[in-house]
Amino acid sequence: MSSPPYLATRLRGFGPTVFAEMSALAEATGAINLGQGFPDEDGPVEVSEAAVAAIRAGVNQYPPGPGTADLRQAVAEHQQRFYNVSLDPEREVLVTAGATEAITAAVLALCEPGDEVLCFEPFYDSYSAAIALAGGVRRTVVLQPPDWSFDPDRLARAVTPRTRLLLFNSPHNPTGKVFSDDELAAIASVCIERDLLVVTDEVYEHLVFDGQHRPLSTLPGMAERTVTVSSAGKTFSFTGWKIGWATGPAELVAAVRTVKQFLTYVNGAPFQPAVAAGLRLPDSYFASAAWSLREKRDRLCAGLVAAGFVVHVPAATYFVMADTGRLGYLDGAALCRQMPLKCGVVGVPAAAFYSDPDAPTPLVRFAFCKRPEVLDEAARRLADLGSPSHP
Ligand code: PMP
Ligand code: GLN
Repeated sequence: MSSPPYLATRLRGFGPTVFAEMSALAEATGAINLGQGFPDEDGPVEVSEAAVAAIRAGVNQYPPGPGTADLRQAVAEHQQRFYNVSLDPEREVLVTAGATEAITAAVLALCEPGDEVLCFEPFYDSYSAAIALAGGVRRTVVLQPPDWSFDPDRLARAVTPRTRLLLFNSPHNPTGKVFSDDELAAIASVCIERDLLVVTDEVYEHLVFDGQHRPLSTLPGMAERTVTVSSAGKTFSFTGWKIGWATGPAELVAAVRTVKQFLTYVNGAPFQPAVAAGLRLPDSYFASAAWSLREKRDRLCAGLVAAGFVVHVPAATYFVMADTGRLGYLDGAALCRQMPLKCGVVGVPAAAFYSDPDAPTPLVRFAFCKRPEVLDEAARRLADLGSPSHP
C-alpha cells in the first residue's frame, strides 16, 4: 500500500484500505470475497421498505444537523431497552455517516495534536487514520491469542501524562472477542484512575454468539467520560447505508457534533426513518440475526478446520481469525495476495490490523456473513491450499 504523491496531509503513508484492496482483488479475479465485511443478503424487508417509502414521500432533502428527531428518539429507546441507559435524545444522541464518521469526528473533537490515544492491538484500520488526522500519537496494548487476553498491568503502564483517550472496540474486529465483565472492569478502573476520555466502538453489539455484550459506558464512573458509537450497518445488514450514531454526555456529544457538521454536515435523509424502524423491531429480530450468523460462523469454522487451518473461534462479529502456519504459510499477507489465484478465495491479512503491518503473521481474517452455499464453496476451495499441488 503506498499513498499518492500529492497527499499533503497527516495521512501521508496511508494508501487504499486493505478492505478496498482485497475487494478489488476479488472483483478482478472473480474470487469468493470473504475479505471486506459485508453480508451477501439484504436485511429486514420492513426496514428497506421504510427507506423506499421515505424516498417516495419526499424525505430527500437535508435532515436536521444532529439527525432526525425520530431517529435520535429511536436510538435513545434502543439504549434503554437493551442496556437500561437513559439518554436525552435532544442533547445526548448524534446521528453520523456510519460509525466511521462518529469515530473520526470524536477523535478530532477530543484530541489535541500530541495527545496520546490508547487502543488494543490488533485494531480496526480507521483508528490509526483518525488518530493521525488529529495529530495524535497511538499507543497500543496487544491482545494475545488464543483468547485475545491482555495484561492489565501493561494497560496501566501504557498510560502516560499525555494520554487523553482510550479508543476501545468490543465486540472486537478482527478477533471476534467480546471483552468480559472482569476485563471491562480493569479497563474502567484505569480510565477512571487516569481520568481518560473514552470512545467505544460497539458496531457488533447485536452480533454476539457466546457471552454477552456490555457497553463500557454502563460501568460505574464511565458514563460521564464515554462516547459510545454504533451503527445500523451490521445490525440490519445494510452496510452501504452508512447511518451511525454517537451517544454520551451532552458536552462530549456537542464536541463531536461540531466536527461532524464540517465533515458531512448531514447524511442519509431517507435512511434515517428506516433505521428508526429497524431499531424498534422486536427483540426476536435481534436474537434471530445473531442466531443465523452463529450458524454461519460454525459452518465456516468447521470448513476451515477441515481445510487444515487452526481457527480462533470468534464469540461475535462477522469475522474469524485463522492461522495458516500449519498449512505452511507463515506470512498471511503474502498468502492473501496469492489466494485468489491459488484457490479463488479472498481474505484479509491480519497484519493490516497491527501497528507494524509489514511484520509477518500467519493469521488471515475471513468474513462469514455470507450465504451457506458460498461458505461451503469457499471452504472447499481453501482445502486446496493444503494439497500437494499448492506447496
Ligand atoms: N468499527 C468497526 C470495528 C468496524 O468493523 C466497522 C466496519 N463496518 C466500522 C467501525 C465502520 O462502521 P460503519 O460502516 O458504520 O461506518
Ligand atoms: N468494517 C469492514 C471490515 O472490517 C470494512 C469496512 C470498510 O471497508 N471500511 O471488513
